[in-house]
Amino acid sequence: MDFGIAGKHALVCGASKGLGRGCAEALAGEGVHVTLVARTVETLEATAAEIRQKTGVTVNAVACDITTPEGRARALAACPQPDILINNAGGPPPGDFRKWERDDWIAALDANMLTPIELIKATVDGMIARRFGRIVNITSSAVKAPIDVLGLSNGARSGLTGFVAGIARKTVSHNVTINNLLPGQFDTDRLKKTLGAAAAASGKGMDEVMAARSQQIPAQRFGNPAEFGAVCAFLCSVHAGYMTGQNVLLDGGNYPGTF
Ligand code: NAD
Repeated sequence: MDFGIAGKHALVCGASKGLGRGCAEALAGEGVHVTLVARTVETLEATAAEIRQKTGVTVNAVACDITTPEGRARALAACPQPDILINNAGGPPPGDFRKWERDDWIAALDANMLTPIELIKATVDGMIARRFGRIVNITSSAVKAPIDVLGLSNGARSGLTGFVAGIARKTVSHNVTINNLLPGQFDTDRLKKTLGAAAAASGKGMDEVMAARSQQIPAQRFGNPAEFGAVCAFLCSVHAGYMTGQNVLLDGGNYPGTF
C-alpha cells in the first residue's frame, strides 16, 4: 500500500531512541522528510545519520529539551510547517503519590500534557490552511488501565487525552487528524530502566525479570519499536483521514477488556 505521504515533512519528538525513533524510521521509509528532536546530541546525530543513509530523505536533527519553551522554539524553527507531528517525551518516574510535591506534578504535566498541547497549538492552524495534517501523540496504555506506581503518568496523560478528544473533532473536516498511540510494554531503554529497578528490588537477574514479565503478555513477548512505528506511519497516511480522536492500544493483547 502506498501511504501517499512521500515528500511531506514530519516533526518527530523524542526520536533518537525507542518508540519515537521507530516512528521516525517508518515515516522516513515512506519518503517523509523528518526533523528529529532529542536531548543527547551524540545519540541523536547517530540516529539521524542512519536514517539518512537508509532512506535518502532529508533528516534534520535538533538537540534540545522539548519540554522547555526554548526547546520547542528551536524545534519549530527547524521544521516550521510540519505536515505530521509526533508528540513524545520521556515518561515521568514511578513512585508513591504521597511523596510527590507540586514540582513533580508540574514536571509531569509539562512533559506529557502541556508540551504536546503547545506543539499542537503552534502547528495545527498551518495544517488546516494546507488541508493536510496528521498529529500522533505517544501516550501510554496507562491511560486505559492505570498503572499504580505511575500515577504521574496516569494523570498527566489522561489530561492530554481529554484535551485531544475535544479538538480532534474540530480539525478533521480540514483533513487534519489527531490520534493517540498507547504503548503497552515495548523493548526500549525506558522499559529496561523500569524493569532494572524491579530486578534490583527483587534481587533477581535482569534476564529473569524480563523473561517473566514478557510471558505475562498474551503475545508472550514485548513489542518492538519498528511495529509501533508502522502503526504510527499508517495513522499519518492519506488512508487514515477518517480516523480522529482515537486511542489506539498496542499492547500484545494485555488489556483484558472487550473494548
Ligand atoms: P526511550 O527512553 O527509549 O526513548 C525516549 C526518547 O525521547 C529518547 O530519544 C530521548 O532522548 C527522548 N526524550 C526524552 N525526554 C525528552 C525531552 N524532554 N526532550 C526531547 N527528547 C526527549 O523511551 P520509550 O520507551 O521510547 O518511551 C517513549 C514514551 O512512551 C515515554 O513517554 C514512555 O513513558 C512512553 N511509554 C513507553 C512504554 C514502553 O514500554 N517502552 C510503555 C508505555 C509508555
